[in-house]
Amino acid sequence: MSRFNFDVITLFPKAFELINNLGVITRALNKNLIDLKLHDLREYGEGSYRQVDDKPYGGGAGMVLKPGPIFKAHESINKSPKSKTLLMTPQGKVLKQRDLVRWLTLDQIIIICGQYEGFDERVRCLADEEISIGDYVLSGGEIPALSIINGLTRLLPGTLGDPDSLINESHNSHLLEHPQYTRPQIFRNMKVPDVLINGNHKEIELWREEQMLKRTFNRRRDLTKRDELKKFNFDENDKKQF
Ligand code: SAH
Repeated sequence: MSRFNFDVITLFPKAFELINNLGVITRALNKNLIDLKLHDLREYGEGSYRQVDDKPYGGGAGMVLKPGPIFKAHESINKSPKSKTLLMTPQGKVLKQRDLVRWLTLDQIIIICGQYEGFDERVRCLADEEISIGDYVLSGGEIPALSIINGLTRLLPGTLGDPDSLINESHNSHLLEHPQYTRPQIFRNMKVPDVLINGNHKEIELWREEQMLKRTFNRRRDLTKRDELKKFNFDENDKKQF
């Protein structure tokens, strides 16, 4: 199996040290399932100060990343035929689980992290896709990049101890996951539902399916498909529980 390569263009490579303390992601790195190469934007800076940013044309607050250093960093990266470049921007398409699954067919993702007020508009032509991790603004693209690396790596075969844990989890289908319990059976007067203890696998399966539908209906109505609701009867009491 070939390795999945992440190449990240960033002004703050140190932010990625976190990857050495992320459990299964660190294990994937140690098992050579992934490779992470950091390309320090400062090294491609211009002039004796290695300048990477400048004031915006037309005036306005803050600094904007210059196109030159980002283009040079991007050109320095060896690209495989199955490579994509993602630009981190709050103006991009909001990241979904299905994007991570879609990118599994690649073997290289190049991520460009912005900083300050963002980047020169001409940088956009380097990107195959512009990605946002949500409708809020962070100070840089490093945390968005780490989110993508983390979310994609845990889907790679060999990363998780038990690959079955990917099957029922939230956002794998359009549904949220059912509630999970572990020992003890009674904790501070809160009981594990009987159905999970009696060992009837058919009943457990049905209960979990119902919980997934109800949870999704009550927490994320936007994800719910109307005809699925007919299978179980929902009433007002259900709403309190989920
Ligand atoms: N002024 C810019 C935002 C700059 S934030 C604008 O209004 O579009 C600085 C950098 O942080 C961005 O260039 C981007 O790389 C990163 N960033 C901030 N929020 C983000 C988000 N929600 N998703 C992805 N990247 C984000």
